Amino acid sequence: MSQNFDVIVLGGGAAGLMCAIEAGKRKRRTLVLERADRIGKKILISGGGRCNFTNLHCRPENFISANQHFCKSALSRYTPADFIKLVKKHHIAYHEKTLGQLFCDHSAHDIVTMLEQECRAAGVRIFTETRVQEVQHGEQFALRAAGREFCAPALVVATGGLSIPKMGATSFGYDLARQFGIAVRECRPALVPLTLNSDDRKRYCDLAGVATEVVASTVGNAPSFREKMLITHRGLSGPAILQISSYWKAPASITIDLAPGRDLTAPLRQPEAQRDLASAKSAFRATLPNRLAERWLDHNPPQGWTNHALAELERHVHRWEIVPEGTEGYDKAEVTADGVDTDELSAKTMESRKAPGLYFIGEVVDVTGHLGGFNFQWAWASGFCAGHAV
Ligand SMILES: Cc1cc2nc3c(=O)[nH]c(=O)nc-3n(C[C@H](O)[C@H](O)[C@H](O)COP(=O)(O)OP(=O)(O)OC[C@H]3O[C@@H](n4cnc5c(N)ncnc54)[C@H](O)[C@@H]3O)c2cc1C
Repeated sequence: MSQNFDVIVLGGGAAGLMCAIEAGKRKRRTLVLERADRIGKKILISGGGRCNFTNLHCRPENFISANQHFCKSALSRYTPADFIKLVKKHHIAYHEKTLGQLFCDHSAHDIVTMLEQECRAAGVRIFTETRVQEVQHGEQFALRAAGREFCAPALVVATGGLSIPKMGATSFGYDLARQFGIAVRECRPALVPLTLNSDDRKRYCDLAGVATEVVASTVGNAPSFREKMLITHRGLSGPAILQISSYWKAPASITIDLAPGRDLTAPLRQPEAQRDLASAKSAFRATLPNRLAERWLDHNPPQGWTNHALAELERHVHRWEIVPEGTEGYDKAEVTADGVDTDELSAKTMESRKAPGLYFIGEVVDVTGHLGGFNFQWAWASGFCAGHAV
């Protein structure tokens, strides 16, 4: 005997729960199926346990997609102000950390509890430890999960991306899209640390833990990011690197300005100044962390001490080019870039054009936010739109 609903949502993460709440409020009989033992697990680990739930400066330019326009409609229908209103309604204390990023004061648990309460108020049913294995489509969508059968005319796929496989991420959502003939753009890890080739690793990676503010950029029309860079045991991380990783594709290089807005060689160009490696190191140490200043000059010494050579050195420190070996992969990636092709979906409702009644929301869709609360804002917004359409 199958259980009948108006809407079945696959995945009890940020996008799925928001969709279920909105559908439930519209009196749709809504069921959420979640494979894990509880809902919102990724929300709990997000933002270092404090969940960076949105960003005050959310604009379409903060999202990466083969179609830059796709995200606009959803983002304008459900804005950061809408989510903040919900957070305030539940008396959740929050603060702006930096660059418009809003975090819970206490814990990401507050956000999950809020979503649970909203689900309950909207009459949403939630089954955890229920992994969907098979979906068939006749008159309705028929699902088999944990030995039971469920039916509904509307099916919302909110199964997330491939990042953090040890938390149970799978390709289920992408496989389901393919099953219905819906195009999926080849996925790749994003917001992920980059690894260096073995030579650069030998040169720099014993400085693991050293951090400095940089501007990171890459080829093409990617924006550049002025934030912290961190040296790791295998390569580079920190916000600036995570951001640029979402745009980087092998074998392109990334360019790092190690001293944005600073003139490091100015002291060496003074009339009476010493011009040698020791003086250069001393000048660089005024801006860069000591060990990085010295190491970088040891491996990138100027070609002499003429004014021209100093100008070249200055140029080089602002345009340090590195060809990463690769990324740390899905184990360390905060999100999955690419995914269900947006050409296949309605930007207003997230419904598939080919398979009416089938919706894709959240990270499974080819819309990837910058670091800083944008991925949750996409999850809320796309979930909201689908919740109003199902
Ligand atoms: C460590 C980390 C920190 C992060 N911090 C932030 C942050 O602070 N701010 C921010 O904006 N973004 C952050 N992100 C990104 C953000 O968590 C995701 O973009 C967001 O959770 C995507 O929401 P979603 O609902 O699409 O997918 P998910 O939250 O991944 O939810 C998908 C759900 O579907 C379930 N599922 C999968 N397959 C099945 C199946 N076959 N049957 C049933 N259920 C299934 C999964 O168990 C999961 O609960 C972070 C990510 C990571 C990994």
